[in-house]
Amino acid sequence: MPVCSVVGCGIRKTPNRPSLTIHRIPRNEHIKNKWLEAIGKENLKSNVKDLYICSLHFDDKFFNKTLNVTRLRDDAVPFKFVRVS
Ligand SMILES: [Zn+2]
Repeated sequence: MPVCSVVGCGIRKTPNRPSLTIHRIPRNEHIKNKWLEAIGKENLKSNVKDLYICSLHFDDKFFNKTLNVTRLRDDAVPFKFVRVS
């Protein structure tokens, strides 16, 4: 089960968080670097394969929600400064 890689978050999906989604870092190098930069892990760049970020770190506008599937848009980038409530 993937765990959010953002420092200070570490959330994993559980049944009592039905609206939470966890997203794997994109393959696209350009977007991938933006993700890493946003979460302060840009020094990991080339060797990162499995890194996950939960939906708390994205603006609602980046999600395409249908009845039972939440998809992250291809151009989605996490918030630069992460605050977890
Ligand atoms: Zn998170």
